[in-house]
Amino acid sequence: MTRHYNFCAGPAALPTAVLERAQREMLDYQGRGLSVMEMSHRSSEYVAIAEQAEADLRELLAVPDNYRVLFTQGGATQQFAAVPYNLLGHGGQANFLETGIWGKKAIKEAQHLFGRAHIAASSASNGHVEAPRDSDIALSDDAAYLHVTPNETIGGLALDYLPSARRADGVEVPLVADLSSTILSGPLDVSRYGVIYAGAQKNIGPAGLVLVIVRDDLLDRAVDSMPSLFSYRALAEAGSMINTPATYSWYLAGLVFDWLKRDIGGVDVMAEINARKAGKLYAAIDASDFYSNPIAKRNRSQMNVPFVLADSALEGDFLREAEAAGLLNLKGHRSVGGMRASLYNAVPEAAVDALVAFMSDFETRRG
Ligand code: PMP
Repeated sequence: MTRHYNFCAGPAALPTAVLERAQREMLDYQGRGLSVMEMSHRSSEYVAIAEQAEADLRELLAVPDNYRVLFTQGGATQQFAAVPYNLLGHGGQANFLETGIWGKKAIKEAQHLFGRAHIAASSASNGHVEAPRDSDIALSDDAAYLHVTPNETIGGLALDYLPSARRADGVEVPLVADLSSTILSGPLDVSRYGVIYAGAQKNIGPAGLVLVIVRDDLLDRAVDSMPSLFSYRALAEAGSMINTPATYSWYLAGLVFDWLKRDIGGVDVMAEINARKAGKLYAAIDASDFYSNPIAKRNRSQMNVPFVLADSALEGDFLREAEAAGLLNLKGHRSVGGMRASLYNAVPEAAVDALVAFMSDFETRRG
């Protein structure tokens, strides 16, 4: 069996150790004589799996007690709707910091559902290659919250600060963050946020699961008439089991949390490894005139590194030869083209070393 290096933006690489454990437990989960996939979500075995996953996540991110952790579904895209439904019940307007394609989709959904959304600052004018500064963010007087995408997965633009989210009248509004492509890549001060959400299929586990971390006091702000499956309060009260949850994805997420805790040593160690991985790739790009990355240095993403070749006619060959060398999924998002290497937690440092060596070899031969 060969496992190639997988740089996919999502669904992304999973730790081999996690997949091996899942394989061992596939047919007979810990002597119970059935697979986790075949368990009732109400059974004591499954509830123990679900509770352990939450406990490990809380430990990894030091989630304060006044935050609820929800394991829900519908992708991060569903949260583009769930957030305004849950936070605009007392009036006010959704505010956004727009730094790329995913934030723009969240804006469109809020506009679609509530008729308006205020863009408090945007990097659209520079093509999303450099993020606005905190001082550029101008919230509307009726801002109910500020939504940010700290890491734009397609553009590879990361915020280098956390917005203060203060209105002109001095009121600090809840910060809502789409952390789909950075969660668990390093430490996180959860107490700075009102709501955090993240689709699972990058740093958490397989697709089909979405993690939401919401501060207790925000559970009372929901719009009355909304789908009950979107309600953070209803989800929190039901232990994320209003209906059948994505049981197997939740179990695998638990295995990933366990791996991050025990095999890696937690998110601080993970952050060091991730910084090293990204550092090596950006160094290789910067050292060459053949490759380039368009993002302002202060906003470079450690998780998603887009790059282009000086001669775009060579892109097809680059991707074909990379794949033949066991370096998979380096094609950039269909909306932007070029190349993109996603360096999530489960992508080992050896994968980056192999990519950098390949890039150097390709440049020598074709540059
Ligand atoms: N937000 C971000 C930052 C993403 O990267 C993605 C998916 N790549 C989404 C939202 C949408 O996630 P989903 O496909 O799970 O709805």
